[in-house]
Amino acid sequence: MEDTIHHKQYRNELVKLLHEKGISDEKVLESIRRVPRHLFIEAKLSVKDMYEDEPIGIGQGQTISQPFTVAWQTQLLDIVSGDKILEIGTGSGYQAAVLYIMGAEVFTIERQKKLYDETKKRITRLGYSQIHLFYGDGNRGLPELAPFDKILVTAAAPSIPDLLVEQLRIGGSLVVPVNGGLQRMLKITKLSETETRIEDHGHFRFVPLLPGTE
Ligand code: SAH
Repeated sequence: MEDTIHHKQYRNELVKLLHEKGISDEKVLESIRRVPRHLFIEAKLSVKDMYEDEPIGIGQGQTISQPFTVAWQTQLLDIVSGDKILEIGTGSGYQAAVLYIMGAEVFTIERQKKLYDETKKRITRLGYSQIHLFYGDGNRGLPELAPFDKILVTAAAPSIPDLLVEQLRIGGSLVVPVNGGLQRMLKITKLSETETRIEDHGHFRFVPLLPGTE
């Protein structure tokens, strides 16, 4: 599949909607305008459906998050060019691509082998060279590559993942939906080795962060 004017028109409409819904970071909106979301979706859907503000199944019981959620989490991360980011829950790779297009170097972990393999191929095909994919249990993070400027969890964690907070640099922040059912979107900023600041940024619904790999 390719990216045409037609696809771009749908993306412009989506960006307009996200702006109306409260996404104000122009860099986030520009990235969503640029990343061809439809190329991350294997399901046979109309272009219109691929650009609705809705989550979409990507197989293995997983979803590509709703565009508003992707935009909201990205906005909370305050991305600056050159940021070193860890993402837990690669899924389709779309969120990683949005971060990459904003100038970040992205390290992303997926626990499902089939999704990991498919997404690895997709990211290579798209030529997104600063996205590094890892197959493994994201609960453990990537201690050998820490510290990270920012960490993003795209599945619901049962509680604040301390192991991930440890892998932040001082001043860095972690964005993570926490709790079962409906989750609170928390932003945890590491102020020093022992202090954090926790902010609550509304409620969302995510698939669960699971233990181990598959
Ligand atoms: N960010 C993705 C959407 C994520 S859906 C995108 O842009 O498409 C949540 C993903 O988290 C799923 O792919 C699921 O398999 C993965 N996941 C759940 N628990 C995990 C864990 N412990 N480690 C790594 N990935 C995990």
